[in-house]
Amino acid sequence: MSLDLRVGIGYDSHRLVDGRRLILGGVEIPFEKGLSGHSDGDILFHALTDALLGAMGLGDIGQYFPPSDPQWKDADSAIFLARTRRLLEDNGYRIVNVDTVIGLERPKIGPYYNVIRKRIADVLGIEMGRVGLKGKTAEGLGPVGEGLSAEAHVVALVERIEEQAILREKHGRSHVQYRRV
Ligand code: MG
Repeated sequence: MSLDLRVGIGYDSHRLVDGRRLILGGVEIPFEKGLSGHSDGDILFHALTDALLGAMGLGDIGQYFPPSDPQWKDADSAIFLARTRRLLEDNGYRIVNVDTVIGLERPKIGPYYNVIRKRIADVLGIEMGRVGLKGKTAEGLGPVGEGLSAEAHVVALVERIEEQAILREKHGRSHVQYRRV
């Protein structure tokens, strides 16, 4: 049987503001500012969610977890990623690998490199070796360089491993849509 590989891309950017915790990839990083947002503002988890949804052709994070919905106020963004993982599994996909870049002038994320990779791997149920992470500064240029915002870029590769017929048998229909719990 031939490989059925799908690639997805995700991007997110939030402001760095006073009075918020800085959470990247589910890990709190001590800093004087944090990322704004309706949820916990975790740009890395948001971009990962979008990349995986994109790889499946199933829309974007805003369709599933709209910021207008009060239940997501200050929500742990791991919820978004964990539910996307379940959507992947329900639709017969497995994650091949994800690769990520964080654009952030300060603080340095180097000390948290493996902690963040481990957290991503745990939420997605994959080995750490399948999670890439790079921290980049913008050398003082633009909103990232001026410390006004941070951004995340992600690519995700997934493989469809279950045929529609098997899914139909398992779930009673060929295409399992996201459902709230
Ligand atoms: Mg976001």
